[in-house]
Amino acid sequence: MNERLMRIVMKKLAVLGSTGSIGVSTLDIVASHRDKFEIVALTGGNNLKLLKNQIEEFEPQLAAVISEDSARQLRAMLPGSKTEILHGVPGMIAAAAAKDATMVVAAIVGAAGLVPTVAAIRAGKDIALANKETLVTAGHLIIDMVKERGVRLLPVDSEHSAIFQSLQGHRNDDVQRIILTASGGPFFKYPMEKLQQVSVDDALNHPNWSMGRKITIDSATMMNKGLEVIEAKWLFDLPLDKISVVIHPQSIIHSLVEYVDGCVIAQLGVPDMKAPIAYALTYPERVPTGVQGLDL
Ligand code: NDP
Repeated sequence: MNERLMRIVMKKLAVLGSTGSIGVSTLDIVASHRDKFEIVALTGGNNLKLLKNQIEEFEPQLAAVISEDSARQLRAMLPGSKTEILHGVPGMIAAAAAKDATMVVAAIVGAAGLVPTVAAIRAGKDIALANKETLVTAGHLIIDMVKERGVRLLPVDSEHSAIFQSLQGHRNDDVQRIILTASGGPFFKYPMEKLQQVSVDDALNHPNWSMGRKITIDSATMMNKGLEVIEAKWLFDLPLDKISVVIHPQSIIHSLVEYVDGCVIAQLGVPDMKAPIAYALTYPERVPTGVQGLDL
């Protein structure tokens, strides 16, 4: 493929939260599909060493960190680098709205992800949405904005990706309900008395998924499933009485859609975030991710 054509078909990504669990998995996918993606912006928080390595590897046009001091340190760690280093909320916004980016991976954790994601939507970027807090805190504004700007909002969260995949080729009007699966986390079946003695480390020891600390704790308390119900309501435009949750400790069925005729369509796979991340990045195409197939 000649270079000009490659530039046209290449997806240009801004990865917000590139030093986190989702960010690192995203860059792993990018690294194995260099012909499909180019990184134009990265943002990190406190992990400057990892961000430095990512900047050296992917040579983005710009990168942003939280504080001015971190920006100064990062510049000193990268003498001669062409990457512009910004900081603070304006820096995150600049990364999210980076001129050349066609898609933004929203993978900052918590409410800090909201403002940059809004900036990306306003700038007309397609969004691969990991930061569920964006929809939990401001779904009513975000969905209108997405429609108004005509951008794609593609789910990264594994349950929502499963629903999205199970809806392909079907009519939304035919949906009876969607069913989100939940592993139950590390304390599933713990008696109440024992719960009083658990430690933070116990809560961080998720049986199936390797994730950042906040979502892992939210999974242990089941709060994460509550956030996901709200996320699903906005993503799929469904009333809450059409969203169910079922405990499925193996985390193999990532979620299901039940149709009016009683048929249920589900998406299955081993629990590895690279699969839903890649689907959001390449939808409607699929690419190899290195994720193992199921041993049925
Ligand atoms: P991590 O904690 O692993 O990573 C969070 C990222 O956000 C890091 O790059 C971190 O920087 C950065 N960050 C933290 N605070 C700020 C801030 N105030 N301003 C800017 N950047 C900040 O989280 P995850 O990757 O696990 O999760 C990211 C999002 O994706 C969350 O909303 C989560 O709910 C969602 N999600 C995650 C899944 C997973 O498997 N991990 C699955 C489904 C959804 P640094 O590390 O450098 O400090």
